Amino acid sequence: METKYIFVTGGVVSSLGKGIISSSIGKLLQARGYNITVQKFDPYINTDPGRLNPNEHGECYVTIDGMGTDLDLGHYERFTGIQTTKANTHTTGRIYASVIAKENRGEYFGKTIQVVPHITDEIKRNIKMMGKQKKFDFVITEIGGTVGDIESLPYLEAIRQLKWEMGKNAVCVHLTYIPYLKAAGELKTKPTQHSVKGLQSVGIQPDLLVLRTEKHLSQGILKKVASFCNVDEDCVVQSEDLPSIYEVPVNMQNQGMDAAILRKMGIEVGETPALGPWRSFLERFKTSTKEVKIALVGKYDLQDAYKSIRESLFIAGAYNDRKVVIKYINSEKITDDNAAETLSPYAGVVIGPGFGEKGTEGKMSAIKYCRENNVPTFGICLGMQMMVTEFARNVLGLKGANSREMDEKTPYNVIDVMEDQKNLYDGAMRVGAYDCLIQTKNSKTYEAYKTEKLSERHRHLYEFNNEYLADFEKAGMIGVGKNPETDLIEIVELQGHKWFVGTQFHPEYNSTVLKPNPLFLSFIAAASEKD
Ligand code: GLN
Repeated sequence: METKYIFVTGGVVSSLGKGIISSSIGKLLQARGYNITVQKFDPYINTDPGRLNPNEHGECYVTIDGMGTDLDLGHYERFTGIQTTKANTHTTGRIYASVIAKENRGEYFGKTIQVVPHITDEIKRNIKMMGKQKKFDFVITEIGGTVGDIESLPYLEAIRQLKWEMGKNAVCVHLTYIPYLKAAGELKTKPTQHSVKGLQSVGIQPDLLVLRTEKHLSQGILKKVASFCNVDEDCVVQSEDLPSIYEVPVNMQNQGMDAAILRKMGIEVGETPALGPWRSFLERFKTSTKEVKIALVGKYDLQDAYKSIRESLFIAGAYNDRKVVIKYINSEKITDDNAAETLSPYAGVVIGPGFGEKGTEGKMSAIKYCRENNVPTFGICLGMQMMVTEFARNVLGLKGANSREMDEKTPYNVIDVMEDQKNLYDGAMRVGAYDCLIQTKNSKTYEAYKTEKLSERHRHLYEFNNEYLADFEKAGMIGVGKNPETDLIEIVELQGHKWFVGTQFHPEYNSTVLKPNPLFLSFIAAASEKD
């Protein structure tokens, strides 16, 4: 089968959940036996989304091959189980950079370089790039931003051309919003009509409409939208607010969305797949009512800054028949004096990743309390580094111990930049998937993974300083996992503690609905034992 293209655009407002819809389409087509991939095009100028402030833009997700990306790629992976790479993420900045590089190589032969056709051609080339691998039946392309934005225009022009060139092999799914006006007691379709007009005015006729709504929409409203927007009635579906985002694929399937896409593309529809494993996950998710309260200690106030950690915790909860309730606690507010009072209501504590000194002393106060009071504790990246630092200070008695990141002059650099990375600063971070060997079989990590060799994703500059390893191990903090090539410590664990594990890598980037990460499962299991 020739590769087919599905474009997902959004209108009226942002934050409607294009990423969830794109992921759901991917999931439903996969369930029909198709090979799919999902890619994102972001209209901003940044060339490296990894540099965006998490407090503004949410978490930086990381692909296996080491690209810092938009958090929507996390949804793609959690829903579909695919592993994304650099090829799944694009920005306007990168499109321009590549056009300018071509210009510098003389590839345009002195021509005037313009948004149309040069930028739009580059967008088209990138959209089709993964399709060229001939691995995928469907390439789903999510376009960031909202129709009407200045920045989105070149993308829409590229889609217009591709739809024209590809005919039935390309469809556009447009996501819009139906607001409910309380005072009038009415659901309003006008913004949707305008948004579709916006698309039509740049030459794109959407094939399917997904109407986001807080209230159930009657058949009458769906019909009205269909007829005002030139869209077939069976191609207008609603996406009501649901208790969990993981219900969206089932909801879309119930309304026949995947079947409508196939029909539009002239593909035989066949039987509706049962979505067995997905439904049984949902069942567990829904029936897990017993709560387990987890504190997430970090410095970014935006919930989305810890998106993958949160989702990994919720998913691990369902597999443990627990409803995970997460309370975010800003580490800047935690001190040795209030740590007990602040953290005692929680059955487990996650010490979050991050960059910079802010909030690190509070993280250590939290860690000290958890270490001394046998509270299950999961340190991720900077969280692990702070576990190491706290242990150095309060157990090994190394006063002023720190990570070189926080204190240039620390007398005990238990966390430091490795020699070969010293002069590289920007771009020298260890990013992407690396192997890790578990060398201590008598560990929570081995119990969880049940294998000696793992591969997990990293994103950090600083590392455990192996000069101190013997001292740590003598005192009970064990380097249970290390990189087989460099000997860098990837996992530390405290012996004799209920559950006290720190990972230099980010296990949350590798935890999907149907394949939850073993460490998250094990952490929630330990935290659940208490009640
Ligand atoms: N700031 C730390 C480092 O660069 C940790 C980064 C992180 O938590 N992702 O090593």
